[in-house]
Amino acid sequence: MYGLARRLYPICRSISGNGVRETLAVLHELIPLEIHEVASGTPVFDWTVPKEWNIRDAYIKNSRGERVVDFQRSSLHVVNYSVPVRAKLRLPELRPHLHSLPEQPGWIPYRTSYYSESWGFCLAHKDLLTLSDDEYEVCIDSSLQPGSLSYGEYFIPGSTNEEVLIYTHTCHPSLANDNLSGIAVVTQLARLLAARGSRYSYRFVFGPGTIGSITWLSRNQERLQRIRHGLVVVLVGDPGPLTYKRSRYGDAEIDRVVQQVLRAGGRAHRIVDFSPYGYDERQFCSPGINLPLGRLTRTPNGEYPEYHTSADNLDLISPGTLAESFEACTQILNVLENNVRLRSTQPNCEPQLGKRGLYAKTGGGKEVGQREYALLWVLNLADGRHRLLDMLERSGLEPEPMYQASRALLEAGLLEIVPENEEKRI
Ligand code: ZN
Repeated sequence: MYGLARRLYPICRSISGNGVRETLAVLHELIPLEIHEVASGTPVFDWTVPKEWNIRDAYIKNSRGERVVDFQRSSLHVVNYSVPVRAKLRLPELRPHLHSLPEQPGWIPYRTSYYSESWGFCLAHKDLLTLSDDEYEVCIDSSLQPGSLSYGEYFIPGSTNEEVLIYTHTCHPSLANDNLSGIAVVTQLARLLAARGSRYSYRFVFGPGTIGSITWLSRNQERLQRIRHGLVVVLVGDPGPLTYKRSRYGDAEIDRVVQQVLRAGGRAHRIVDFSPYGYDERQFCSPGINLPLGRLTRTPNGEYPEYHTSADNLDLISPGTLAESFEACTQILNVLENNVRLRSTQPNCEPQLGKRGLYAKTGGGKEVGQREYALLWVLNLADGRHRLLDMLERSGLEPEPMYQASRALLEAGLLEIVPENEEKRI
């Protein structure tokens, strides 16, 4: 995952254009995603797919011909979606087009001008202060023309046509946590699910923020009723604790499942309520769509100092944090996949576990292991009414041993899965 982020880091992505296509082409080497192109001008709900932006070069040269700001050194130097410009300007005329962070003088800010045609440069404040009152040659060799918006979609059919939707955004240029960490973790999740098979069908969407999810939703309205659970996965590589933002429902199955997974192992984590601010959950949880979809991040957007600056680089993310986020995602999916109603086939008193090799051979010890506890809780609650999630909530045990216990008991024939359409039996 870290290697994938490193490979994608130099590419100048935006909400449309060749940087996104190049990114999707790299992902296509790993997962057979389908790449969709939606023409500029296409109406999508209250929005319109914008013109396509591409950039080849950009710089500010001083009167000695030296590039004092150079897009080739960092894709953050140009305000993303800048219209083309070629001009000679004195510093006072140029100054309104320059953006810096006085409070973080060594970092380049990330700025965009998606929905108003303008241009600008971003640079470290300490470099801005060195600019003398010279005449500067300004060049942004970009194009903003009718084209298309690109997104990638990978569908993995399961044994039912009920779907889990996972969305991550692909529109940020050379920033590592926002959005390469999400792309890397979601790609790896897709590879895992494709390899092992599943009850749910899974749909992975890699699209630009806001306009991407709006475009996808407007083109897939008839499919939405099949979506049972969803997650937006972004900002999952920084060292902060995992943070889950609940769906608009607040108590959807996905909300309850993530809560159980994040509390496991006593790890530090945060769970926050839905708010209509943030990433693509704003669209998926808008009132007319209202999917049971939450958002998994580590530190949320805007809450870490490196956010939307050049300091969100490959040093901010690590293989370890990506792995922990990936592990949390797989546990969430494990619980969702196995959150079925279970019924004991031997409900009269406890079944004899020892003779089936399921219980510790030596009795009398003081410690009952998590494994044994989990077997007893699952058996006790397997009355045909409780699902795995109910069992987790009631027992307070951790997802992994409970999940393993239910698998072992199913294999031993001591449990059966109650079909969804069967009447509840007391
Ligand atoms: Zn962002």
